[in-house]
Amino acid sequence: MKLLGIFGSPVSHSRSPLIHNAAIADQSLLPAVYTRKLVENGKDLRTVFDSCGFFGGNITVPHKEEAFRQADRLDPLAEKIGAVNTWVRVANQVVGYNTDALGFMETIRDYETPQKTLIIGAGGTARAIATIFQQNGLDQVVLNRSANRLRFFADQGIKTASWDNMPFCQFDLVINTTSAGLSDDELPLAKEHLIRYFESAKYAVDIIYGKQTPFLQLADQMNLTTQDGKMMLIYQAVHAFKLFFPEANQSRVETVMKMAFDL
Ligand code: NDP
Repeated sequence: MKLLGIFGSPVSHSRSPLIHNAAIADQSLLPAVYTRKLVENGKDLRTVFDSCGFFGGNITVPHKEEAFRQADRLDPLAEKIGAVNTWVRVANQVVGYNTDALGFMETIRDYETPQKTLIIGAGGTARAIATIFQQNGLDQVVLNRSANRLRFFADQGIKTASWDNMPFCQFDLVINTTSAGLSDDELPLAKEHLIRYFESAKYAVDIIYGKQTPFLQLADQMNLTTQDGKMMLIYQAVHAFKLFFPEANQSRVETVMKMAFDL
C-alpha cells in the first residue's frame, strides 16, 4: 500500500485528499491512498511520517520550513527556496521538493509575460514564487508588512520594500501571498496603496482559494484580470503526483484533478 497524505495545521479544510484520490482511482494506481494528518508541532513531522509508514506527502502551513530541515536530501529548487511542500521516500531517504513554485508558474502561463511584478508578503510561498520568477529572469519587488522576513530576498538579489518605504513604480502583475483575507476581511495593504498599484496593473492573483478575498474584490471592481489560488493548488498537486507516481499519465492527472475540483 502506497500511503500518502497532507501534513499541517489545520488540514481539515484541505482539498488535497479529494484531488489526489480522484487521480489515484482514475488511473487504477491502487493500492494507494491519500489521507490527511493533523500535525500541530512541526518538530513531530518526520516522526509521524516515518512511524505511520508514509511513502510521500505534502506539507502545508505552518511546517514548510520544518519539512525543509527534516528532509534527508533536497531537490536543488527546494534548497534554493528554503521551504519544502512535498516529501517522497526514495531508497529509505526522504527527499524534499517544492512544487508550489512550478505550480504558480503554470497558473500564469496564459498571461502576457509580466514586465514588473509586485509580490505582497514574504512567507514561504512568496519565497517559492520569487525564486522561480528570478530563475525565469522576471523583474519583481517583494513588499512585506515587516522588514525582518525580507532578508532572504535581499540576500538573493531580489528587490524588496516594506510598508515604510513603498515602491513608487508601476506593476503589471500584483500577487497577494499573505494570509490577509483568509479568515478575516483584511486587505494585505492599505486600500489607497492597493488602488494606486491596481490603477496601472493588468493582472491580480490571490493564492488563497475557496473565497473571494477583499484583495480580489477590489481588483475585480477595478476591472483587472483576476484569479484565486485554485489553479495553483491543482498545478502544485499535479507536480507532486508526478513525484509520487512517475508511471501515471500526467495530462490525464491534470484533467481528473480539475474535474474533482469542479473546474
Ligand atoms: P507564511 O505564514 O509563511 O507567510 C505569511 C505572510 O503573510 C507574511 O509575509 C506575513 O507578514 C503576511 N501577513 C499575514 N497576515 C497579514 C496581514 N493581515 N496583512 C499583511 N500581511 C500579512 O504563509 P505561507 O506563505 O505559507 O502561506 C500564505 C498563504 O498562501 C496562506 O493563506 C496559504 O493558505 C496560501 N497558500 C496557497 C497555496 C495554493 O496552492 N493556492 C499554496 C501555498 C499557500 P509578516 O512577515 O509581517 O508577518
